[in-house]
Amino acid sequence: MEQVVKKQQQFFNSGKTLKISFRKQQLQKLKNILKEHEDEIYEALNEDFRKPPFESHATELFVLYQEIDHLLANIDRWAKTKKVKSSLINFPSKSYIKPQPYGVVLVIAPWNYPVQLALNPVLGAIAAGNTVILKPSENAPHTSRLLADFINTNFDSGFFRAVEGDAETTQSLLSEPLDYIFFTGSTHVGKIIMKSAADQLTPLTLELGGKSPAIVDQSADLTLAAKRIAWGKFINAGQTCVSPDYVYVHTSKHTELCRLIQKEIRSFYGDDPSQSDDFARIINDKHFDRLANLITPEKVFHGGNTDPDTRYIEPTILTSVSWDDPVMQEEIFGPILPILQFDDLSEIISTLQNKSKPLALYLFSTNNKNQKKVIRNLQFGGGCINDTVAHLGNTELPFGGIGNSGFGLYHGKTSFDTFTHPKSIMKKSNWLDIPMRYPPYKEKLKWLKKLTKFL
Ligand code: NAD
Repeated sequence: MEQVVKKQQQFFNSGKTLKISFRKQQLQKLKNILKEHEDEIYEALNEDFRKPPFESHATELFVLYQEIDHLLANIDRWAKTKKVKSSLINFPSKSYIKPQPYGVVLVIAPWNYPVQLALNPVLGAIAAGNTVILKPSENAPHTSRLLADFINTNFDSGFFRAVEGDAETTQSLLSEPLDYIFFTGSTHVGKIIMKSAADQLTPLTLELGGKSPAIVDQSADLTLAAKRIAWGKFINAGQTCVSPDYVYVHTSKHTELCRLIQKEIRSFYGDDPSQSDDFARIINDKHFDRLANLITPEKVFHGGNTDPDTRYIEPTILTSVSWDDPVMQEEIFGPILPILQFDDLSEIISTLQNKSKPLALYLFSTNNKNQKKVIRNLQFGGGCINDTVAHLGNTELPFGGIGNSGFGLYHGKTSFDTFTHPKSIMKKSNWLDIPMRYPPYKEKLKWLKKLTKFL
């Protein structure tokens, strides 16, 4: 690891990444590689957790293509030195901000969108002029191998290198002097990463998870709400950091919403989703066992079937759920949807104000007052009104958590900013040197006080 990092430091110090044309070439090259190998990528994702090709394209490759195009169209503008006003104190001078890359960036990726969440931060790091070491997730081994193969055969390892491995590999990378760490994963591991970063005062971004609610009030369009909740929940078999973890529905609409979501599950995946090509599997046995244990049989409104051999968990709706149930103790991260009820929106606002701040929140409502109330009074990373998950499809919207769901932002301009240090420079003229600031001070304090009144 020492050699991997040293080589990147040398490459960075050579100044090659400072050229915008170099950054653009590398982004375009990455896009071309992905385009050329789309079928292999679908295949690896299929091997890892039977991810349907449609979802692989829509939620992994398309997102990357869109981000690359957005970066290519804007890097020139974002990377420009920005002049700012100079202060009177520094007269005569000019001031400007020079966007500068950090240096060697380590990107640590999760398994659930193993291509997109590995490469999306990499794009921002490259656009900003850094070199990148990527540690893909060992829990999606086919995709990790394929990514490492593409990267390590096509890019100079001083510029972009993939290092496969598990927690131990990550730890040994973290013991090296890095300039920025970008971590996506669980809150538990996020804390470990932050402790390691603290040892060397390395700046970092933590993109973590949490329990993201979907709230459905009396005024909601229930048919659309059911369809959009079912889509956001069961895409990737619920293994999505921003998937609606649970639903809070107004008591008067509870039965109808449960039936409508059930209807959508059948229309998406048929009567037996285990036979559908459009429904993914759970990533490994550990997560399968964890999820199977969250299904309390007497609370199953729909689904509940599981098969350990294929790691299949049926899209499942649980009702009569309270905050004391096992399913409400942790982020579910699987195709199990608990539905809770409320009578008064203010009540759930105060309940949620006392829980961890989630990565996302979704409100289904046609009532403007309720929309404003929820958006104003609750803290969460980001979200949608009358939809789920789809806010990630806009490169103009920064993406990131708050509190236990992480800190720092990326996507579009915020990716560029995350991996950029804005270096502030004041350029002083030599034609005048006001003697006021230099000792001996003698009577100067009196003059300083008079002068600062006008500044
Ligand atoms: P994870 O935290 O188990 O692993 C993430 C990465 O950390 C992997 O590359 C892994 O090798 C590494 N790692 C694991 N243990 C480590 C340790 N002790 N020291 C150093 N590195 C270690 O997360 P996961 O299971 O891959 O992903 C699921 C979690 O990620 C969920 O909580 C989900 O909500 C969250 N997530 C968040 C986002 C987001 O954008 N905010 C996106 C996807 C997933």
